[in-house]
Amino acid sequence: MLTDSHCHLDRLDLSKSNQSLMTAIEQAEARDVSRFLCVCISEENRKAVLDIAAQRDNIFASVGIHPCDVSEKVLPQSVLTEWSADSKVVALGETGLDYFHSQDFIAQQKESFVNHLQVGKQEALPVIVHTRNAKQDTLDLIKNDACREASGVLHCFTEDWDMAKQAMDMNFCISISGIVTFKNAESLRDVVRKMPLEYLLVETDSPYLAPIPYRGKPNMPAYVREVAEYVADLKGLSYEELANVTTQNFLRLFNRAA
Ligand SMILES: [Zn+2]
Ligand SMILES: [Zn+2]
Repeated sequence: MLTDSHCHLDRLDLSKSNQSLMTAIEQAEARDVSRFLCVCISEENRKAVLDIAAQRDNIFASVGIHPCDVSEKVLPQSVLTEWSADSKVVALGETGLDYFHSQDFIAQQKESFVNHLQVGKQEALPVIVHTRNAKQDTLDLIKNDACREASGVLHCFTEDWDMAKQAMDMNFCISISGIVTFKNAESLRDVVRKMPLEYLLVETDSPYLAPIPYRGKPNMPAYVREVAEYVADLKGLSYEELANVTTQNFLRLFNRAA
């Protein structure tokens, strides 16, 4: 049984296929996807994420503010703590640093990221980390005394081996998306080949970043199957072995889902 460790179910593009969200979930289930982590990005979509998670036992939620949704006023830790009390919440985030898409509020991105890491540490909740063009700052803040012992995942990983290694040394998992199937992703494939299985997760990040053969089309949670089959090949495993180990890793990290 496979797990989609990161998807945005409230943002799926269902208009063309005229589907309901639950049909999309059932299609994924028919392809062996048995769990979904629906990820929050802002104050605005938090309710939608929690409503979706409330509809089914196998859909879990996170709460947090995406670095590109951070602006002047940073959400205080007390609010994050309050949000995390919902029974379907298994993680904080996605948080992190994105200097590629957003340069305007770098100080606030850092403050927000530290808030998530510290609340994660206090509440024993893993943190979903988005990082883009911000390698050193991301690692430094995770290493920061006040944050250490927070655990989590670098989601939709696209960085180099050095970053993966440093993150795993701090007990962070590495989640691989459909990007790994792209032609120009050879260095990411190297990271996947090298990394130990115990830190490996797979995700769709749907509706973004559909894997080959769906590249350029809206991504769906069912397509985590393509990601898993591709990654299994890279690791020299069967699909079933890869599905099992990544699901076990998911349940170990997001232990409220277990
Ligand atoms: Zn992200
Ligand atoms: Zn995401």
